[in-house]
Amino acid sequence: MEKYDVVIVGGGIAGLSVARELSKYKVSTLVIEKNEGFGKEMTASNMTLVCQGADSLTFRHGTLHAELNIKSIPLWPKYAEELGIPFKKIGGLGLIRDRIDFFRFMKMYSRAFKSSLKGEESYYIPKGSFEPLQFLDKKTLKDLEPYSNPKIQGALYDPNLAVTDPVKLAVALAENAKANGVEFLLKNEVKKIMREDEYFTIMTNETSVKGSFVVNASGINADRLAEMVKARDFSYIPVKGVLTDFDEDTSEVFKHQAFYLPSLGEPHIKAVVPLIYGGLRVGIHLSFTLRSDKEIPLGAVDHNLGVIKSIAPGYPFEKHIKKTFFGIMPLTNAETGWHDFVVDIPPHVPRWINIVLGPAGVSSSPMLGKKVVELLSTSGLEMEPNPRFSSSAKGGVKG
Ligand SMILES: Cc1cc2nc3c(=O)[nH]c(=O)nc-3n(C[C@H](O)[C@H](O)[C@H](O)COP(=O)(O)OP(=O)(O)OC[C@H]3O[C@@H](n4cnc5c(N)ncnc54)[C@H](O)[C@@H]3O)c2cc1C
Repeated sequence: MEKYDVVIVGGGIAGLSVARELSKYKVSTLVIEKNEGFGKEMTASNMTLVCQGADSLTFRHGTLHAELNIKSIPLWPKYAEELGIPFKKIGGLGLIRDRIDFFRFMKMYSRAFKSSLKGEESYYIPKGSFEPLQFLDKKTLKDLEPYSNPKIQGALYDPNLAVTDPVKLAVALAENAKANGVEFLLKNEVKKIMREDEYFTIMTNETSVKGSFVVNASGINADRLAEMVKARDFSYIPVKGVLTDFDEDTSEVFKHQAFYLPSLGEPHIKAVVPLIYGGLRVGIHLSFTLRSDKEIPLGAVDHNLGVIKSIAPGYPFEKHIKKTFFGIMPLTNAETGWHDFVVDIPPHVPRWINIVLGPAGVSSSPMLGKKVVELLSTSGLEMEPNPRFSSSAKGGVKG
């Protein structure tokens, strides 16, 4: 039976960010993925936004979610260049309809400003790598986005927000990790894991391997994997997020990401994102779900159409719908209402790392790998640098 220092279960953005970071060290690593290619689950079904987190209202201070996202912002341009993936700053507009919105955005703005005063000591806004947020009046907004709803009074502008192609990123991370020595097992679903004193035995539908450390990066299945070795020290609710894509003609209609703050009791997100290859992505109709449920909920397409029409009325979006699809995300911390990432070693199961990302995991990719390497290193994995590491080499791996 093959034995590895680290076995990563899951070939989405989480597992592959870790695999690529680990390839910088002399560590034998295997990634096991149940699908034929990479990034085909949550990583393929999202808004494609990166460099999120300037708005310190939705990214709650003090959470790992905020830390990994905001620390990732300055790393993104080089990260994308090394990996040869598309990355484009589009800027984000928090749309202001009334005084209540304005005061909520003021709170967001002043939190971001206060964090910036902490300078280099603050992880929230790294000095010099982050463009400040800015309030735009009605006329400036109209000049920027001529199709925007005339009822909108202005916007809080975040120039840092960007888009990418998350699936291309997943494939590029895998190819780079492969070139630097990481091994892959595709079309292998992990069915059972046994914990011994010194290692784990991981059994798939085809084979068995041993790993001294296991990184559980299996997305919405992370609870099931953790339960196999009694390492589940987290809970989450699977939430279905429905997205609607509009064709390339609509690229001319809106150029920035834009969103409304949710009103009290409003269960859905109202946002539009210009996609990197053209067209608009609109959402997000949210509903509690079972992970096996493959139906688009009733009313979801109408909701998404209503969102874009409320942002840019007067354009016949109904004639430009391309497709509607969904991703299922794990939402943690339901009791506090502030979602957070899980990236930790349960105290009673050493050498096992759980990763549960949920919203904004793509954005956090550059920092996530570093965080996990730090955890592995402090739990005893020898991390000698790989002298042959190349940041942009590509190995042949089916994506
Ligand atoms: C509607 C929606 C919008 C979002 N918008 C954004 C956004 O704009 N920006 C952003 O940063 N984030 C966004 N996110 C979140 C982002 O998509 C996730 O954080 C990220 O994709 C999670 O990656 P992951 O690797 O943890 O999970 P996944 O991509 O799901 O990867 C897990 C992998 O594990 C594999 N796997 C599972 N079980 C097994 C097993 N037993 N054996 C082998 N393999 C297994 C799966 O096949 C899968 O490939 C959004 C999410 C949703 C749903």
